[in-house]
Amino acid sequence: MQHVDICINGAGPVGATLACRLAASGLKILLIDRAPLPDMEHPSLDGRAYAIAEGSRRMLQAAGIWQNLPGPSQPIRSITISDGRPGEAASPHGLRFSPDDAPVENGDPTPFGWMIEARDLRAALNQTLTSHKGALDIAAPETGTFTFETDHVAITLGSGARYKAALVIAAEGRQSPLRQQAGIMVTRLPYNQCGLISIIHHDRPHEGRALEHFLPQGPFARLPLPPTDEHPHRSAIVWAESTKRAERFYALDDAAFTSAIMQRLGDDVGSATPVGRRWIYPLSAQYAQRYIAPRLALAGDSAHGLHPIAGQGLNVGFKDIIALTELIEECFANGGDLGGADLLHRYQRRVRPGNMAVMAACDGLERLFGNDNPVLRFGRDLGLGAMNRLPALRRAFVKKAMGL
Ligand SMILES: Cc1cc2nc3c(=O)[nH]c(=O)nc-3n(C[C@H](O)[C@H](O)[C@H](O)COP(=O)(O)OP(=O)(O)OC[C@H]3O[C@@H](n4cnc5c(N)ncnc54)[C@H](O)[C@@H]3O)c2cc1C
Repeated sequence: MQHVDICINGAGPVGATLACRLAASGLKILLIDRAPLPDMEHPSLDGRAYAIAEGSRRMLQAAGIWQNLPGPSQPIRSITISDGRPGEAASPHGLRFSPDDAPVENGDPTPFGWMIEARDLRAALNQTLTSHKGALDIAAPETGTFTFETDHVAITLGSGARYKAALVIAAEGRQSPLRQQAGIMVTRLPYNQCGLISIIHHDRPHEGRALEHFLPQGPFARLPLPPTDEHPHRSAIVWAESTKRAERFYALDDAAFTSAIMQRLGDDVGSATPVGRRWIYPLSAQYAQRYIAPRLALAGDSAHGLHPIAGQGLNVGFKDIIALTELIEECFANGGDLGGADLLHRYQRRVRPGNMAVMAACDGLERLFGNDNPVLRFGRDLGLGAMNRLPALRRAFVKKAMGL
């Protein structure tokens, strides 16, 4: 039986980042994933590009991960939000966040966020994980069985290896077997929508500008990506539609798919062509009724899954990591019980209310913009226009969204 301080089940972006962060603080960690980690870097596995908030970027830097990104990240310097119908010009009351709305650091405006491709984050995570050899045991591909005792958790791996930990953190994604084992209920908000993801290259430079175009069938976002030798002007498209329509768009031939994108993009960045394959993901939101059980904490999508309308899912998971790390480091330094009820309750109190507020805001945005009711359309155009005229309100909003 080997002793570790903490076992993290699930080495997705949240579990792997938390493992690097805690191992860097001198804790002994066991990280388990049912999938082999190198395979997660494969380009065909995940087409997502993440919008990383500045607060999340700082945490990734502190965990030694940001420095290991294999390629450049793309700063988001301005954001245009428009309310429209496919094929129509964006509403003139659209909202624009410019560098003037961003907090200034060393004389320069801080970017609103950073775009990184999922496979680049994965490569950086895998590299950083291997740099913590002494402090971090990685069991992947592997699954564990967990027995929760009063003063420890006993973990048995499929290989027969046995471990003892003070605390288990479930970062297993939305299905979370440990959450189910603890009997924690989940509330699900089905949207009957799918997200279509594609990378496009376009004629004109994006200059770090992101576009969020709200359409009655679902939001359509263009997020700026860093250049490659082959494609100097690239963006990611994240496009939500009802499941039936999304499946139809997904199956279109290249010419029809390009024309559907152009219809929604308008003259935003000149003519655009999809590059490489498309991805389709079912969209829903869910939240766990509790984030904790004796000697167990939920983090990331195991605790909360958001509608990707605002690209906040992973950022909210990173906020869990920031809170957990602070509490665990403090407890570790004081020689306290890392799986004790006090630490667990403080964690839940610190993150759950804020996470619920982000979830409610994303759900509200989806409902407010996801229809063509003329009264709501008038109201939201007025709201966007008003925010456009109130720089102080814009700046306060931006600071919150940047996780600062
Ligand atoms: C279309 C789309 C676009 C998105 N865009 C953004 C964005 O721009 N910005 C953003 O912040 N977020 C975005 N998100 C959300 C983001 O992808 C998720 O929030 C994030 O992946 C959650 O990370 P996680 O580590 O908690 O869970 P996951 O990524 O689901 O990882 C869970 C890990 O646990 C492992 N696992 C599962 N079960 C077990 C088990 N029993 N034993 C061991 N291991 C197990 C899995 O193999 C996996 O590696 C988007 C989501 C979607 C669907």
